[in-house]
Amino acid sequence: MRTHFSNATIIDASGAAAFKGTVSVDGERIAAVVGAGGSIPVSPDDETIDCEGLTIMPGLTEAHCHISFNNLTSMYQAVEIQPEDHSLVALSNAQMLLGCGFTSLFSAASAKPRVDVAVRDAINRGLFAGPRMRAAGQEISPSGNLGDLDNNYLTFPRNVRFTVTCDGADEFTKAARLAARDGVDTIKVNVSGDRDWGHMHADDTVTVISERELAAVMEVANARRLMVATHCTSSSGVKMCVRQGVQVIYHAPHADTEARDMLEEAKDRVFVAPAAGLPISMLKRHREFDLKWSAAKIASMESEVETVTRCMSDLHKRGVRVLPGGDYGAFITNPMGENARDLEHFVNLFGFSPMDAIIAATRQGAELMRMEGETGQIKTGFLADLVLLDGNPLDDIRLLQDQQRIVGVMKGGRFAKRGSALSQARNPRRKAA
Ligand SMILES: [Zn+2]
Repeated sequence: MRTHFSNATIIDASGAAAFKGTVSVDGERIAAVVGAGGSIPVSPDDETIDCEGLTIMPGLTEAHCHISFNNLTSMYQAVEIQPEDHSLVALSNAQMLLGCGFTSLFSAASAKPRVDVAVRDAINRGLFAGPRMRAAGQEISPSGNLGDLDNNYLTFPRNVRFTVTCDGADEFTKAARLAARDGVDTIKVNVSGDRDWGHMHADDTVTVISERELAAVMEVANARRLMVATHCTSSSGVKMCVRQGVQVIYHAPHADTEARDMLEEAKDRVFVAPAAGLPISMLKRHREFDLKWSAAKIASMESEVETVTRCMSDLHKRGVRVLPGGDYGAFITNPMGENARDLEHFVNLFGFSPMDAIIAATRQGAELMRMEGETGQIKTGFLADLVLLDGNPLDDIRLLQDQQRIVGVMKGGRFAKRGSALSQARNPRRKAA
């Protein structure tokens, strides 16, 4: 039995313009894609869904995803929750994101060692519905940097923290090997400082690890064909990442001209994801959440958004793959589930056309997932990872944030969400009545 989505506006994410036509799904894959006027053989068992007024596009990839960060108000919240509860929260977030149209999640770190891995494996074994996942471990970070919550008098056990603190190449090697033992797909390393979270003393222009430490992680990852993703805001950090062959560089706002030249040179092997959703939401909502920001703090956040906007606009013009995904869940102002808001930022701030933003989130997302040629496009033979929308996101990219207008989500040919717009009432020709 096939399912035929007929009369749909099709955004195939190949780079071609949207067109009207039919997408047929057989089992887990797309069996045919034809334009208006073309015909597809329909057998009596098939289901035909009239998609007049609807758009069909590939499922989205979240390129900077933290399913174990549950709308935190402090970093300690990710520590306090016990692993059993934590895994269930993460699974629930993964399922929620699938319903939002994210058929693939690329993790940017797990708040405890095996939370991502356990969720990925349970989904892959068919125990639960959920998106495709590339799982990460904890963030590997030097002492006195992002996520190091210890001080001289207080130490948290290694396994409850969202970072593993390491100093020196040997400790980085060990942490990377332990992450590999845990079964991760991606090793996360904090290469730079960050905006001031009150517990660290390295700002976002500072590169906090040595090249030898990053090289030690790369050696482990390359041998095991794992990917490395870095928290990296500083310019010298970006250069170090490109030199060492890091595949995914997060943030990168301060990349100078030389760093951008290097990224452009390496554009076939590197991805950049600015994770702008978090600072933008903090700026917008700091009063609503009573963060008590000073005028200086507000000014510094505004400047951060301007800096990342300038850099990402330039990288996009240079043809570097810049992907949406914005630290949703990592802070209460930026809740899990709003993730498609990143595409709006790409269009409004970074100079992406709506089509460019969709291609970044779909076709290039599949490249990030190492599933190019398998998913990320509406193409015969590809996995049927699909989103159906009431309306056209090329007219208004915010449509992807509207749960009422996301009328269907399919992963591998199975509906994860099927709204009333895809019901029998809309579909008089269902089951060759
Ligand atoms: Zn993050």
